[in-house]
Amino acid sequence: MSCLFPTYNRLDIELVSGKGTKVKDSNGKTYLDFIAGIAVCNLGHSPASVKKAVEEQLDKLWHVSNLFQISLQEEAAKLLAGASGLDAVFFCNSGAEANEAAIKLAKKHTGKTKILTFRQSFHGRTFATMSATGQEKIHSGFGPLVPAFEYLPYNDVEAVREIEADDIAGIMLEVIQGEGGVNPGTETFLKEVEKKCRELGALLIIDEVQTGIGRTGAPFAYQHHGLHPDIVTAAKGLGSGFPVGAMIGREELISTFSPGTHGSTFGGNPLAMAAVKATLETIMDDSFLCEVKRKSKLFIQSLKDKLESLPQVNEVKGEGFMIGIQLEGEAKESIERLRENGLLTLPAGPDVIRLLPPLTVTETELKEALTILEQSINLQEAEASR
Ligand SMILES: *Cc1c(COP(=O)(O)O)cnc(C)c1O
Repeated sequence: MSCLFPTYNRLDIELVSGKGTKVKDSNGKTYLDFIAGIAVCNLGHSPASVKKAVEEQLDKLWHVSNLFQISLQEEAAKLLAGASGLDAVFFCNSGAEANEAAIKLAKKHTGKTKILTFRQSFHGRTFATMSATGQEKIHSGFGPLVPAFEYLPYNDVEAVREIEADDIAGIMLEVIQGEGGVNPGTETFLKEVEKKCRELGALLIIDEVQTGIGRTGAPFAYQHHGLHPDIVTAAKGLGSGFPVGAMIGREELISTFSPGTHGSTFGGNPLAMAAVKATLETIMDDSFLCEVKRKSKLFIQSLKDKLESLPQVNEVKGEGFMIGIQLEGEAKESIERLRENGLLTLPAGPDVIRLLPPLTVTETELKEALTILEQSINLQEAEASR
């Protein structure tokens, strides 16, 4: 019997090694990994520059508390500030913790109590971020929730226009909803949310835990739409697999988080910061991101060309290498077939196949994946018509 709480639906597969986009299981079968640890391994498995930086730090000093100066933390923060156009960073250990920090900062800064979020959103599993998440199945059995979260329909411009209450500390949202089904926010909707925040004196909090760190071809997804968030959160891809999160905020917010207001024992420790610095130095580079944009545009176009005409496929959506294939029916079986054929993908909602390859995926690997996708989804068609 397993000694683990069964909080995950685990596959009967153990991955034992990985390099770039390829992973191998304990039976020696290799796969193209288009899950990448759920948008974590943005530089692929075992990226040389991050490996070197962490190894060097392992030989120097693993952990000191935030009672001391940590210059790597300053350097990593500077890179994040530069990439986001914001001014200050708080480091923590996960996406949920980054959102926790954002929620606390927004409440303390504005002196207001309510945070608005959206249906089908996902913001984490801690008490406050679970409460922020607009999905009943995630709340089930845990009530009463943290008060003062309200959920609006996503991409509903009218619903945003009609917000009136004056005790709103912030509006928090994903630019593309990840777990909720790879739902891109429309430009009019996103702009309306920003406008509403300004009107109400509420903070615009953008959860970039999945969309950030180059995933969509820009450092952060809000940059595709010219938004000006007050707070941005990041985690997944930030440390290339080293567990780390960050909350990034505007200059006006800095003094709200004075000494003693918030903290984390592990947050920003030297090992994590070595991983973050090396990751950002590679990803936050114009030519790297241009290449991500170029490769992903071609890939999305060929997915549309090959798949959208199939009766099982409703739509190919997403941006950069955050891609959803919206099916007419459940995604589960297709995902199993893809896996048997050597391509690892994951669901988003019940009917979307989500593709999150490493940003370093090669054109050859993208072609291979396309062939597997075509064959696996067609095979279903062949079976259905039998
Ligand atoms: C994964 C995710 C989180 C939670 O991150 P953890 O590191 O699992 O706590 C929060 N927001 C979004 C958008 C995510 O995709």
